[in-house]
Amino acid sequence: MSNSYIDSVYEQVLTRNPGEKEFHQAVHEVLESLEPVVERHPEYEEVALLERLVEPERQVIFRVPWVDDHGRVQINRAYRVQFNSALGPYKGGLRFHPSVNRGIIKFLGFEQIFKNALTGLGIGGGKGGSDFDPHGKSDNEVMRFCQSFMTELSRHIGESTDVPAGDIGVGGREIGYMFGQYKRLANAYEAGVLTGKGVGWGGSLARTEATGYGLVMFTERMLTTRQQSFDGQRVVVSGSGNVAIYAIQKAQELGATVVACSDSAGYVVDEDGLDLDLIREIKELRRGRISEYASAKPSARYVVGGSIWDVPCTVALPSATQNELNLLDAKTLVKNGVVAVAEGANMPTEPDATDFLKENGVLFGPGKAANAGGVATSALEMQQNARRDQWTFDHTAERLQQIMDSIHDRCAETADDYDHPGDYVFGANVAGFTQVADAMLAQGII
Ligand code: GLU
Repeated sequence: MSNSYIDSVYEQVLTRNPGEKEFHQAVHEVLESLEPVVERHPEYEEVALLERLVEPERQVIFRVPWVDDHGRVQINRAYRVQFNSALGPYKGGLRFHPSVNRGIIKFLGFEQIFKNALTGLGIGGGKGGSDFDPHGKSDNEVMRFCQSFMTELSRHIGESTDVPAGDIGVGGREIGYMFGQYKRLANAYEAGVLTGKGVGWGGSLARTEATGYGLVMFTERMLTTRQQSFDGQRVVVSGSGNVAIYAIQKAQELGATVVACSDSAGYVVDEDGLDLDLIREIKELRRGRISEYASAKPSARYVVGGSIWDVPCTVALPSATQNELNLLDAKTLVKNGVVAVAEGANMPTEPDATDFLKENGVLFGPGKAANAGGVATSALEMQQNARRDQWTFDHTAERLQQIMDSIHDRCAETADDYDHPGDYVFGANVAGFTQVADAMLAQGII
């Protein structure tokens, strides 16, 4: 980076947060976009705005003891990073996965600040989670873990303070157990303290579908700028969780053929187009593995290990986890004629892979913008909770469509304004940053 202010901030991030490589990566990507912005706005440096932006407002790390089905005491470590509240209460998911550590939660929390700003719905950025692995645990074990986790977390959250939701490993079941425990401790039915709740008890219709649907809506709008659409595209979606499943559904609805998806063990290819009902039965009902798809479908093959990006496609939607698409994958995608790549997961594309795709004229939708539909619909859930109201599916999906269109256009316009036409990474970083920075300026040195 060639700006001395930005360089010195990044150096500080490296020395003050040793070993947190995903956090370094996320900060680097944003700071890289900000050179022309700090040059246009010298007032940011005068109030140490970037130095404050990269330092979370508050970080909580706590022990979660629970008893497993064999009567053994288990200990997990949990985090809540309340990164930035310039625009509203901290908002962001909880991730339960063995890979969770402080650096992972900080990278996710940092990204969340800009993503949430882009929604335009008045939400700050935060993230949390634990190294607890829900896979292979009984419902009762998951419940005991969630109750213990919430016993501590409840001191730090609240509907105007910090509003957690789901992420990898945290879905409707976990949110239910956590909400039950929160309600008991607070002695109040504070519906807006968590989002992703069940539809019968304060949850929003279309929240489950929102991240995947929003991803496809955003991608469709990028394709429109090149007079294209999803109709007739050959799509590969990595992952097979909540984001992937509803991205597949929406892409199919718009006329695409989705030929592959994956889990952490391998991927399936079905040249006939994936059978979504079967995937949902395996993943949502049975909590099973994607290999079961190939056992049930003669037209499908299952590949262990390897890279799902070897499967030729014109649209790629990485929706599994961070750093799942590397430079080699990007080269394969370009060789196979990919037109658009959009991130359903948070930071799934490695930085040199992103650069390669952009240099080769591929439409690239960064997660901050492309997957913002999930958290945006969480904000819509908070609106419904505040008014004790429940909107219809169609009304909520319509709001989501408007929000995704406006995020797309804001990114594109910001990129144009700074003479980076078509660069959605730059547009998302700068548009999100500017809104947060101006709010921070107005609110003084805090
Ligand atoms: N975990 C999701 C995200 O990465 C959703 C967060 C939320 O709904 O608060 O944006």
